[in-house]
Amino acid sequence: MFIDTHCHIDSYERHAGESFDALLERLAHDADPNVGLPEAFVHVACDPADFDHARELSEKYDNVYAAYGIHPEYVDTETPEDEARLLEFLAHPKCVACGEFGLDYHYAPDSAPRQVALFERHLRLGLESGKPLVLHLREADSDALAVLRNADLRNHKIHVHCFTGTPEFAANLLKLDAEIYIGFTGIVTFKNAQNVRDAALLVPPGQMLLETDSPYMAPIPYRGKPCHSGYIPYIAQKLAEIKQMPVEELYRQCRENTRRCYGI
Ligand SMILES: [Zn+2]
Repeated sequence: MFIDTHCHIDSYERHAGESFDALLERLAHDADPNVGLPEAFVHVACDPADFDHARELSEKYDNVYAAYGIHPEYVDTETPEDEARLLEFLAHPKCVACGEFGLDYHYAPDSAPRQVALFERHLRLGLESGKPLVLHLREADSDALAVLRNADLRNHKIHVHCFTGTPEFAANLLKLDAEIYIGFTGIVTFKNAQNVRDAALLVPPGQMLLETDSPYMAPIPYRGKPCHSGYIPYIAQKLAEIKQMPVEELYRQCRENTRRCYGI
């Protein structure tokens, strides 16, 4: 009934000290029969050192798909070899997207000009690959929009993942000449995230994706705990409330969006 469109399975295993197999078993046991289990997972590898493991996961589990990208936190360490490897992994049959990559000025605002140059390069690689793109855009609204408006995005699918911005930023993203999807995580349940709820109000149901960004961003009532795909129902419930639609309809719509964006 739902797919977690953005999770980091290996980080979850490290962070929670629980194997993915053990998690799946636990979820099978505890799942709400009205909601069911995650049908599939998009596992995101955004450190080149993790690409091999992501490929292994996607080959081991039928319902684990992979996305490969280089996170902006590696702006000062990534190499041309990393980009060459990225292209190799993008060609793998279980790879469904290029990303996450983008801009993040939260921790390292001084690196902004270098991040922009890297973002432009990765955007070009991603567009050339023909894969859907997964963007991480945090506290860099005007630079992000400038780079995106400068590129030819027509007919490309873009998942702006773990949305944390303002309603204005969401509105500007939706105006881009591309097939835009906005991903919502547990942040939508946080008390101090009214901006994210206001943004969700603006996003048409046909452009929303459910994601956890596991192991981060666990929704209330699990905030601060390791987050996993079994928490999607808390996110779906909150989004349905915001959109004033039955939660079953929200699931149906997001499942359909996932099929359109990722082909799964
Ligand atoms: Zn992520």
